[in-house]
Amino acid sequence: MMQLPLTVGSLLERAEKFFPKKQVVSRTLSGIHHLTYKEIGQRTRRLASSLEKLGVKKGDRVGTLAWNHHRHLEIYFAAPGIGAVLHTINLRLSPEHITYIINHAEDKMLFVDEDILPLIERVKDSLKTVKAYIIMTDQDKLPRTSLQPAYSYERLLESGDPKHPFIQNIDENDPAGMCYTSATTGNPKGVVYSHRGIVLHSFALGLADTTAISEKDTCMAVVPMFHVNAWGMPFAATWFGSKQVLPGPMFTPKHLAEFIQEEKVSVTAGVPTIWLGLLNELERGSYDTSSLRAILCGGSAAPTAMIQAFEQKYKIPFLHAYGMTETTPLATISTLKSYQKDLDEAEVITIRSKQGLIVPGLEMKVIAGDNEVKWDGKEMGELLIRGPWIANEYYKDERTKESFKDGWLYTGDVATVDEEGNVKLVDRTKDLVKSGGEWISSVDLENALMAHEAVFESSVVGVPHPQWQERPIACVVLKDSYKGKVNKQELLDFIAPQFAKWWLPDEIIFMDDIPKTSVGKFLKRELRSRLKNYYIEA
Ligand code: AMP
Repeated sequence: MMQLPLTVGSLLERAEKFFPKKQVVSRTLSGIHHLTYKEIGQRTRRLASSLEKLGVKKGDRVGTLAWNHHRHLEIYFAAPGIGAVLHTINLRLSPEHITYIINHAEDKMLFVDEDILPLIERVKDSLKTVKAYIIMTDQDKLPRTSLQPAYSYERLLESGDPKHPFIQNIDENDPAGMCYTSATTGNPKGVVYSHRGIVLHSFALGLADTTAISEKDTCMAVVPMFHVNAWGMPFAATWFGSKQVLPGPMFTPKHLAEFIQEEKVSVTAGVPTIWLGLLNELERGSYDTSSLRAILCGGSAAPTAMIQAFEQKYKIPFLHAYGMTETTPLATISTLKSYQKDLDEAEVITIRSKQGLIVPGLEMKVIAGDNEVKWDGKEMGELLIRGPWIANEYYKDERTKESFKDGWLYTGDVATVDEEGNVKLVDRTKDLVKSGGEWISSVDLENALMAHEAVFESSVVGVPHPQWQERPIACVVLKDSYKGKVNKQELLDFIAPQFAKWWLPDEIIFMDDIPKTSVGKFLKRELRSRLKNYYIEA
């Protein structure tokens, strides 16, 4: 067979050639923009040539601090297109972590959205390697900034070459992108994506048994483009010529519902908190969501009740998927096998709530000690994954040896596997509640609580206990209309039939809001720290 390298540039080339009329709809601070792939292609090439003129060379890291919009999409292809490395930076991290990440990756250029300028201006004196800043603004003039030297994105494009060729002498194993993932303790850890990994992952997103993204779709990535390449959606959607909707900095549930209705979005992707918000919005207003053929949800466990509401009440198919920054990210996805279609609704929802089957191309095993667990849906162990779009190290980081061993990624996630091969995540190793020497799954308790009609969000954490080592405590946010009307005992009675008595949370604490991580997951570390003296003080 021929050894044609798989390159990120070739993904955009296909859209330029075969889908020049298809659209990218993009929201920025000033409004909504409509561009075709022809325009995106020309703008990307202009940008690529300007970056070269500014001195960006093969292998250089180009950082971005930006929301989901067309300019970010253009850098997704312009940087790898000249052999540089697209380094997306999570703009919701602390200034200290952002500084660490930029210095550790040794970013040469930084692309910054106008509204993120104050954050970078604050840390600029600590950035050791950045040679220039490119400000992404809709205004004609560059905004006032203390960043130096600073260029206007659109001005740079004007002086660029719309036909600039993408680099040819590229090895498919060369780095094309990188992204840092937050560690439980210590600094974030960098993951480098190769051209080959990104292209193979894009293939995976197109498979009929995964997300089946195709030219017929209108894809809206709500998951930020700074988080694992928005789960690879911008790459795959461009390659397949799908219309794309990029929701920009304002992705409130109302804006998302409007986009779905107006742009006829067919596939959208995001974390559960986004979909809980959308569900709330759909219950309040009246929107036409009939174009949606799939909501892709991952990042943390999707509550069963939410899946049920989307699938049964709104008739929107819900795809529960699992992955990590280290896995580019798609690793498993919930699917019904052909002979399971006639199961009753409850059984179908149980299957849909699992994280599902490992996607074609990857391999997995779940181990307890040295042995693989039984596929009985009960025995738990750590999930290990390997495959061509799984990282094999952290970038220049000692912690590589903790997570990458014998050719496998040790995910740190505890899972069971059922007779059909479906993975079900029980917890992060660190989130399992250890009570009296037995394990309690915080995810199962959260799921049960969120099935109550009054509960908007719930997060369960293990709190140190003098006798039992840890006991589970549930933090619950009630829906507005139920505030003050539901008490702890009602919720405990509601979930009691599903669990052994010792599994039930000792306490339910009602809150206005559950703290979240920079990518919208429950911030259990913060809850644990708030509650750490709960029993000692009591
Ligand atoms: P990140 O690298 O920030 O994307 O986080 C990856 C982690 O998110 C995984 O190791 C899991 O603990 C968690 N995660 C991702 N998808 C799911 C899911 N569908 N259900 C439960 N946890 C998930």
